[in-house]
Amino acid sequence: MQKGKINVQTENIFPIIKKFLYSDQEIFLRELISNAVDATQKIKTLVSAGDYKGKLGDLYIEVKLDPKAKTLTVSDNGIGMTADELDRYINQIAFSSAEEWIAKYKDKDEGGMIGHFGLGFYSSFMVAKKVEIHTLSYRKNAKPVKWECKGTPEFTISDSKRKKRGTDVVLHIADDSQEFLEEQRILDLLKKYCKFLPVEIIFGTEKETKKEKDKEGKEKDITVEKPRIINNTRPAWTQKPAGLKDEDYKSFYRELYPLSFDEPLFHIHLNVDYPFNLTGILYFPKVKHNLEVQKDKIQLYCNQVFVTDSVEDIVPDFLTLLHGVIDSPDIPLNVSRSFLQNDSNVKKISGHITKKVADKLEELFKNNRKDFEKKWDDIKIFIQYGMISDEKFRERAKKFCLLKNVDKKYFTIDEYKRHISTNQTDKDKKVVHIYSTNPEEQHSYVDAAKERGYDVLWFDTLIDSHFINMLESEFENISFVRVDADVVDKLVKKEEDLPSKLSDKEKDKLKEDFEKLVDKQKFNITFENLSEDDMPVSITQPEFMRRMKDMSALGGMNYMGNLPENYTLVVNSNHPVITKLANEKENSKKENNINQLIDLAMLSKNLLKGEKLTSFIKRSVDLF
Ligand code: ADP
Repeated sequence: MQKGKINVQTENIFPIIKKFLYSDQEIFLRELISNAVDATQKIKTLVSAGDYKGKLGDLYIEVKLDPKAKTLTVSDNGIGMTADELDRYINQIAFSSAEEWIAKYKDKDEGGMIGHFGLGFYSSFMVAKKVEIHTLSYRKNAKPVKWECKGTPEFTISDSKRKKRGTDVVLHIADDSQEFLEEQRILDLLKKYCKFLPVEIIFGTEKETKKEKDKEGKEKDITVEKPRIINNTRPAWTQKPAGLKDEDYKSFYRELYPLSFDEPLFHIHLNVDYPFNLTGILYFPKVKHNLEVQKDKIQLYCNQVFVTDSVEDIVPDFLTLLHGVIDSPDIPLNVSRSFLQNDSNVKKISGHITKKVADKLEELFKNNRKDFEKKWDDIKIFIQYGMISDEKFRERAKKFCLLKNVDKKYFTIDEYKRHISTNQTDKDKKVVHIYSTNPEEQHSYVDAAKERGYDVLWFDTLIDSHFINMLESEFENISFVRVDADVVDKLVKKEEDLPSKLSDKEKDKLKEDFEKLVDKQKFNITFENLSEDDMPVSITQPEFMRRMKDMSALGGMNYMGNLPENYTLVVNSNHPVITKLANEKENSKKENNINQLIDLAMLSKNLLKGEKLTSFIKRSVDLF
């Protein structure tokens, strides 16, 4: 037996490993299995290079639990190690890199990155009080060796009885890590990190029911135990797009998100090998009208090993709403987050993904406009978010970004300008885009606008106010107003005022009467000389304030949320009902009628609620 000292400077490196990586203990399994995968891939490479003439056999990795002995073993039939290699790779090199890393990062509070980077083999000491390696190299005449270490810098190397090529790493699980002896815990970890590894991973057995014929030729169900394989070694993203059908992508989606009910709308298969390596599949899910925090996220892999599902630093913000998988060995995982964002590879990857997404959307738009329109409501949130937050994407998306009107017709931004330009301009010659955020609730306003021959757009998501702001600053010659922002004719052009049927004195008197009956904090009363066809009294809400409030609802400007609601009560001085009211002598009747008119205006803006609604109904019944 050979005894030795691991080549480390820091005597107490084990306590540091244990403490430092405490929050991410579970990654030890990923590290050991990654090593085992590497070992099997290496032997495969040796065979194809003609450097190994022995039998390759079926390559596999097996994870075994022995609750009695309190051990967890990871076995592979990869290339194995000679005593020399053990000494070089395990005693010297591996440890020095671990030590270097710890020295570099132990003072930094970079909690989030630890999970992205393992200490390789030595991370097993996070959960084990003793680790043994039994290994036999593929090399001719190699002798099997055993390495053992109890979590101190001392190790021993001795002979082993191992007969087959490959390596067993046996962890004697520490008393405070007994959870790693539970089958379910290990199964969950394997499913999390190893679901798509390229070599079969066996963990325990499972029952399978098969049909078999008995002696008389009758079919019978028989149950057999077979090794439980926990991974799909050839996930869709590693295959050539040409060989995959739409259904294959859908079934891979279900494999990725077994708990999701929705089908994705479409996918993008990423495949780059220059100037960086990147494969993956991104799916556009149905997000509909909410920006809720999502449980299904893009997963990042490194050579089929799961790394993380927080990809915020790698994928542009607006695309984190997508689902799917990105696999790249070129994303540096052992660096801090701020470094990651500035890494040139990561920037290129992020730019590439944005471009690919824009390409795909443009292709869908060009090739099948009808279908694109059908999907629009589900994808608009990505596109709008992307246009708001990413300049490059905005330029691309201007071509295929759609506007929907209340008649559910879709237009590109340019098409819409042409559709309405003849009669919808304001005094500054800007093309006015009238919109409704809820055609049901704003029905009377939408109706009035349409009756005047104006087109009304439909914007119904929270992000729309930001989107509208972006469009106004992108296209200098267009403006947006909500259909209830002002009296219809004023939305569009400053009309020459019609002559008023009321004198200024009459107006002032009537204004006083109105003011007595409304909440002055909330309502600002104005008189307009509109046509007889307009409502006698209507309520509008200034565009700017309303939009600010809507935007603050989405976050970022909380103080706006505290602003009181503010409305304008517009009295049409030319409506016969109003001229009659001005001449009404009987005070109680006048008051009653004003209340009725205000309530009607409130009602058409959906503002009449509770007690006010009840008294309106009563008053209306009394009219009979
Ligand atoms: P890394 O994997 O980052 O190189 P590790 O500490 O995990 O660092 O492993 C150090 C080295 O030990 C590996 O590069 C490999 O050469 C060797 N090794 C570890 N596990 C195995 C194994 N199961 N089979 C063969 N060689 C292994």
